Amino acid sequence: MKSKLLITGGCGFIGSNFILHCLKNFSDIKIFNYDKLTYAGNTDNLLSVSNNSNYHFINHDICDGKAFSKALEANKPEAIIHFAAESHVDRSIDEPLNFVKTNALGTATILDATHHYMLSNKLDNFKFIHVSTDEVFGSLDKDKFFTEQSKYSPSSPYSASKACSDHLVGAWHKTYNTPVITTHCSNNYGPFQFPEKLIPLMISNCIDEKPLPIYGNGENIRDWLFVEDHCRAILDVLNHGNLGEKYNIGGNNEIKNIDIVMKICSFLDKAKPRNNGSSYKDLISFVDDRPGHDLRYAIDSTKIQNQLNWEPLETFESGIAKTIEWYLDNENWWRNIQQKKYNQERLGLNINS
Ligand code: NAD
Repeated sequence: MKSKLLITGGCGFIGSNFILHCLKNFSDIKIFNYDKLTYAGNTDNLLSVSNNSNYHFINHDICDGKAFSKALEANKPEAIIHFAAESHVDRSIDEPLNFVKTNALGTATILDATHHYMLSNKLDNFKFIHVSTDEVFGSLDKDKFFTEQSKYSPSSPYSASKACSDHLVGAWHKTYNTPVITTHCSNNYGPFQFPEKLIPLMISNCIDEKPLPIYGNGENIRDWLFVEDHCRAILDVLNHGNLGEKYNIGGNNEIKNIDIVMKICSFLDKAKPRNNGSSYKDLISFVDDRPGHDLRYAIDSTKIQNQLNWEPLETFESGIAKTIEWYLDNENWWRNIQQKKYNQERLGLNINS
């Protein structure tokens, strides 16, 4: 088990869950969290560990190669887990160049710094885990599944920029022998997910009695995975994965968007009934579809299940119940984000920066 990890993007949704999972389960681990704190980065996610002497925060940009090299040399990590990215497809349609900059150029910048760090420190037992997405493969036909050999066919600026980062990671492995492993995971859900993404948006809009906007006819299918299962998979890949290889990670939970929203409404109808006595389902409204919206994603996780003995511990039913309860119990967390967004918009600031 590697005990000194540099995490990029650790103040985001998956990165913060990963850090909390590591600090909770391993007393001898040291975490260096390198994060620029974009609109999606939230230090509140890690308040519970902010005084833990095994946790260190470094506030910088992955596009800043000098700062990244300095962070490596000062802390001498044994592995990097690269989560940092612009991650929201809708924003990538509005501001594609931000995505190319962070996801492609940022990844190349830290690969270059890692290569020089390994050379100058003569490291031969290092690992660079690149956290990617199933979206790089594009839309799937019925009954087919993404495998590690699936062809790249990204549809959005987000998925294209992630595909670019995957190719850069692969090129550094082939050219410089950088010890990389790439993971392709399906849609995650769970605590600390920014309330612009489908599940937290629907939960918070129900609680606020706001419309529940669903793209197109709601028939788009995603394969949902509880975030802690993803974190466990990344640790398995870090500790036992083969260098230069790819691992697909999925929950085997293909669900249509409309069915997800219906489930959330049914849960909240019982947990927090509306004052007017009707169902939250009455708030559903169908809106114009997103351009280039992929219809279906579904992951074949056979490789990681067979080779690394990983399997998801949560079913969708247990994971969504935990998630909705978390958003009900942690209203302050997402209300603070709403307030920050409101304040920034009122002052005319760019909330995407
Ligand atoms: P997120 O948007 O919640 O968090 C991204 C984090 O990266 C934030 O803390 C942000 O401040 C940081 N960041 C962004 N640009 C940066 C930069 N230039 N320098 C340093 N830090 C920067 O994202 P997430 O949902 O936690 O996703 C994490 C990773 O997992 C991403 O690479 C994403 O592509 C991948 N992924 C996400 C999902 C999902 O369902 N959320 C599924 C598969 C893969």
